[in-house]
Amino acid sequence: MTAIESENGKKDPENVEKVTSYIRHLEKKIKEYEIDVNLLRNSITKVEFEVKSLRSEIERLSELPLLSGYIIDILDDINDRAIIESPPNSSFVVRISNRLKEEKIVPGLHVALNQRNYAVMEILPSNFNPFVRGMEIIDCPIDISYNDIGGLENQIQEVKEIIELPLKKPELFKKIGIEPPKGVLFYGLPGTGKTLLAKAVAHEANATFIKVVATELVQKFIGEGSQYVREIFSLARQKAPTILFIDELDAIGAIRMQDDTSGDREVNRTLMQLLSELDGFDQRGDIKFIGATNRADILDPALLRPGRFDRLVEFPIPNEKAREAIFKVHMRTLHFEENLEIKKLIALTKSATGSDIKGICTEAGMYAIRKNSEIISHEDFIKAIDKIMSKKKDDFPISDIFL
Ligand code: ATP
Repeated sequence: MTAIESENGKKDPENVEKVTSYIRHLEKKIKEYEIDVNLLRNSITKVEFEVKSLRSEIERLSELPLLSGYIIDILDDINDRAIIESPPNSSFVVRISNRLKEEKIVPGLHVALNQRNYAVMEILPSNFNPFVRGMEIIDCPIDISYNDIGGLENQIQEVKEIIELPLKKPELFKKIGIEPPKGVLFYGLPGTGKTLLAKAVAHEANATFIKVVATELVQKFIGEGSQYVREIFSLARQKAPTILFIDELDAIGAIRMQDDTSGDREVNRTLMQLLSELDGFDQRGDIKFIGATNRADILDPALLRPGRFDRLVEFPIPNEKAREAIFKVHMRTLHFEENLEIKKLIALTKSATGSDIKGICTEAGMYAIRKNSEIISHEDFIKAIDKIMSKKKDDFPISDIFL
């Protein structure tokens, strides 16, 4: 007797119905399981993909930094090989990575190279884009003149002779037969007006102002620094007359270390390139160099030789007279109370730099705005001095004492 037969051996319609519905139920279950299996398969594929991309990210992150170089030639007879040049002036026959199978590799291309075997790993942008590299270029006229500088009369006089006059009247030097200096080194604490004076002299000499921060020269891709120096100098030539201002010069110009790490070697190569570019310029030419540093004492003497940054101009912390002049520059556009005691402000700002004084004027204005006042009071200035000066080392809040 089967499940659908009754006791007399005949098919029982009720049992038939039950078994059929049970079969339908099982078929439905099978379909549901099939859907579940498909969903799980999809999830497995997704997770596998994620694992793969995380693995390749880990690989990428643990890769050594890449060197930068240039393709000199492609060796057609040998598969995936090229001749590359990597600074300083060495050429190698190397492999081209499979990653670049689809790319067109041609001579002259700027590429990134594996540090161990120099294989070509990536194609780098070869177009020089100063904005990507954090450079500042101001075509004349710049909106800053000697009148915007307080208390640096001697420094202004020096740059007039060293930079401005040779740019404006090179024939004077030729007639007399002397070579004007090519470059000058500004040294002094941050905020003492080095960049300000460099911009002002560019304005007065009607020259393009190019500012480069030396720390930017030591790039992510080892080998890039010296290439960058070449590009900057070529830009300076194109835009001449030019003042090329190299800030934080100590970042590449500190006394040379042992070539311990690839980073040290990179810094030294960048410095060597800078020196050789400086040497390639005519002293009577229309490009002048201004280096700036907070640490003249640690600079490589090679930088200070004749024909390089051979004049030194110091930017000291301003004395009383200079502080008065700087306050006057920054108060020119301010609305302040008539009986303001400037002498008191000067006395309270003993170790302030020009940049601190500018900050004090702005901050005093902010205190007046907060009170809804249209005029800056003596008290606003005192509070601003308190705020700015107490941030400086070894200073203490002074408003309680002097108000
Ligand atoms: P850093 O070493 O940090 O580059 P710096 O010496 O180049 O500093 P600047 O950038 O020239 O300093 O100064 C910052 C700001 O401070 C200037 O834009 C200017 O507003 C003000 N300042 C500094 N010195 C003077 C000054 N002698 N007269 C008027 N303003 C000044």
